Amino acid sequence: MPTSLSDLKDALAPIEDLKSAAAVLSWDQETYMPEGGAEARARQIATLKTMAHERFVTDEVGALLDRAETAVEAGDASAVEADLVRVTQRAYDRARKLPASLVSAFSQAASRGQTAWKQARANDDFDHFAPHLKELVDLTVQKAEALGYDTERYDVLLDEYEPGMPTSTVVDTFADLREELVPIVEAIADQPAPNDAMLHGTFPADAQRAFGEQVIADFGYDFDCGRQDLSAHPFTTSFGIRDVRLTTRFDEAFLPSGLFSTLHEAGHGLYEQGIAPELARTPLAEGASLGIHESQSRLYENMVGRSRPFWQHYYGDLQEVFPEALAGVPGADFYRAINRVEPSLIRVEADEVTYNLHIMLRFELERALVQEDLAVDDLPAAWNDRMASYLGVTPNSDANGVLQDVHWSFGAIGYFPTYALGTLMSAQIDDALRQDLPDLDAQMASGQFDALLQWLRERIHQYGRRLDAPELLKQATGQPLDAGPWLNYVQKKYSAIYPDLQAQRVL
Ligand code: ZN
Repeated sequence: MPTSLSDLKDALAPIEDLKSAAAVLSWDQETYMPEGGAEARARQIATLKTMAHERFVTDEVGALLDRAETAVEAGDASAVEADLVRVTQRAYDRARKLPASLVSAFSQAASRGQTAWKQARANDDFDHFAPHLKELVDLTVQKAEALGYDTERYDVLLDEYEPGMPTSTVVDTFADLREELVPIVEAIADQPAPNDAMLHGTFPADAQRAFGEQVIADFGYDFDCGRQDLSAHPFTTSFGIRDVRLTTRFDEAFLPSGLFSTLHEAGHGLYEQGIAPELARTPLAEGASLGIHESQSRLYENMVGRSRPFWQHYYGDLQEVFPEALAGVPGADFYRAINRVEPSLIRVEADEVTYNLHIMLRFELERALVQEDLAVDDLPAAWNDRMASYLGVTPNSDANGVLQDVHWSFGAIGYFPTYALGTLMSAQIDDALRQDLPDLDAQMASGQFDALLQWLRERIHQYGRRLDAPELLKQATGQPLDAGPWLNYVQKKYSAIYPDLQAQRVL
């Protein structure tokens, strides 16, 4: 390896260590930290993040990148090293374009915004949050202008979470999706919903936890290089490829909540555990994008965890764990219940069919905000209009409407579409892997998940951040982003659960 490349790696590794250390503190904050630790913890995390940022944006790192680039051009670098230089250069350029004053103003506004949002949501008082959101939108516009963009501001905001994905691709893909999905949801809403009474009962958390952990160990999640703890909002975080943490939460009165959040986060965790060890302590040791990350979690949660073959294997075990609730309930009824579709107000409680509509409306509204086509004061009405036209339901309060999500309160604009992009990608990936694993259903029905994980490791996980999502998706599936495979999946699966769907779908 040329010294220019080893020098660059030596400079980047301690920066990655600082970020990992900050991630440990954040994980602890959400899991074990007593409330009293909050103020000191916020300072500690900010200190580590500032140190990482300051070490990164130096002229010295810029010079190391220039020398490494020369080595790449001379053909002296491996393919991984060339990817490292390209990805790091992009992050460096981005970080250097933002003035320190703007970064500081943004982080202060984000912290005030979150506090105001919590109060506003608790009191159903949008006006309390509005001035903070105005400030955050204004700073986001400044951020986009400082970073620069070709077509529209949203491009550069989306790029932070979904590198290489232009807004126009999202707009086109969502338009295709909306056209077919809205009538599907309407057709489903017209039919009787499956009875899900058996999912409401008494499900002790310890038993839920033991069952879920057995399943994700069967998936291949390595508990020697990870663990699962409890938090208010489930998440996955990585302190290195050999230490990937999951969190979940359990509702003892409603089984699906904890069960599917465990399977979902395990999909994220398997991705992080599958990154090639040679990428450790570099900026490449993370997922390609939030969309690709979400494709892995949705695949394990929905395509695997809500499938018939999966429950052919596990339902008997689950009945033994919860005999009171499930002993007399046929597997077919349980399967229909966990796939019940119901247009509802709250995104995080939405089923897999209606979920994407929640995302589309957020994408359209936040894009309009940063284009200055929509004023913050008009946001609640615009939200309610779209809920009515996409989902056929109207929020009874702003707390259950425009105030329900945390993202905007800390200025995360450009994030929402990645949830839906990941869902669409999960179906494309599922189609591709089934071509190579034609007996996957039979494997899952006998509790075998090794070939599935092996396929994902080879095609997706090992690359970490080496490829942008559009390139990785093309390489893994042979296709660009497309809503078609997910719509086909929904059509096929749900016409078996809602028999009139086939006839009513507008094709
Ligand atoms: Zn997720």
